[in-house]
Amino acid sequence: MAPSAIPIPSTTSSLEKEGIARSLEKTAPSFTNGSTNGITSSDSTLPELDASSLKTTLTQNPQPVPLPDSPEVLAQKTCTDHMITCSWTLTTGWQTPELKPYGPLTLMPTASVLHYATECFEGMKLYRGYDGRLRLFRPQLNCARMLLSSARIALPGFNPDELLKLIVKLCATDGEKWLPKERPGSFLYIRPTMIANDPALGVQKPKEALLYIILACFPRMDKGQEGMKLLASKDDMVRAWPGGFGFAKVGANYGPTLICQGEARARGYDQILWLFGPESSVTEAGASNFFIVWKTRVGQTQLVTAPLSERIILDGVTRRSVLQLARERLSGSDDNVEVVERKFNFSEMLEAYDEGRLLECFVAGTAFFISGVGEIGWKDRSLTFKLNEDGCGRYAGLIKASLKNIMYGKQAHEWGYVVEEN
Ligand SMILES: *Cc1c(COP(=O)(O)O)cnc(C)c1O
Repeated sequence: MAPSAIPIPSTTSSLEKEGIARSLEKTAPSFTNGSTNGITSSDSTLPELDASSLKTTLTQNPQPVPLPDSPEVLAQKTCTDHMITCSWTLTTGWQTPELKPYGPLTLMPTASVLHYATECFEGMKLYRGYDGRLRLFRPQLNCARMLLSSARIALPGFNPDELLKLIVKLCATDGEKWLPKERPGSFLYIRPTMIANDPALGVQKPKEALLYIILACFPRMDKGQEGMKLLASKDDMVRAWPGGFGFAKVGANYGPTLICQGEARARGYDQILWLFGPESSVTEAGASNFFIVWKTRVGQTQLVTAPLSERIILDGVTRRSVLQLARERLSGSDDNVEVVERKFNFSEMLEAYDEGRLLECFVAGTAFFISGVGEIGWKDRSLTFKLNEDGCGRYAGLIKASLKNIMYGKQAHEWGYVVEEN
């Protein structure tokens, strides 16, 4: 799919939209190609992000690969042997990207990111297929979303295709060793990140930035048969709001939620189910999108999730894929599931639950993949759901199995992006 699949949001404020357009025109002119409101800039000849100029320095100190689900993997601190970095400045544009040994970054204590949360990121996985090949899953969507996120916080623009080439290069370099062919069904977590590293305390648009890509060993996070336990947020807690930045994968969305998430964990829940506004509309759960399957009062089975229109939830790649698969495979005569993106309130869910119409709930995202919800805590109520052995209800289970087949190469599909190994 073209990078324009995730365009500049039309519902953002006019000031924000113009700011983004101007910023992209300056930092990625050939990518935007004059399409951003026709704002032109005198420095549009600066070098752009260019994967073909990648400079490679291989490590002299290769590290051992930890066993799946070993303590090192559970700690989520182990990264592969290499990383890719690329610097940008307002006056010189994008520099030569470098593939080099994984290691610490150097930042001044005044660096913008440390004070003003000028950071955005992506979360993707590299899968070792049952056919022995390495695959990404719809990576073009992540690269386009990274551009959207960086633009929202005044970080520089880039051509998402070049970011994808850099990600593929790092995966091709470290994939063979870190995802051994003898471990099909395993994965690495890919974290493309951009930070503003201006060594200056002025509160202003960044003039220097660093893009980097790392590959981390990551535990499997889908839950067992009990499923995920969600705690619904209270009226006095908001994750994101219209006109804000909940639609962007920026660090500033996450830090402030950790105190609540920690409290939920201490009470035995896995994640917060974020409700919004006086009507308690259901938005998303942790860093995953949220879905329900219910029967309407007239007996129609529906798969329902919150819409993107208010721009308070993330446009998840997994969310899109769930919706598309459900429309293709579950709306036929056998299952006859209607797929609906609409605002829905917690009270509607509760009513359906009490009337026996709420069939299942599940979360969908790269980290937690598809996980069935076993329990939702709300005020003094507890909604419980019986799950199958795969930790999912019937519909989530069907979708999860289809997605797994694509990710691990059991089914050829355009969403599976094969990475040729070096
Ligand atoms: C990353 C994320 C998701 C899931 O997006 P995917 O592209 O499916 O991984 C959902 N919600 C939030 C808040 C996220 O950060």
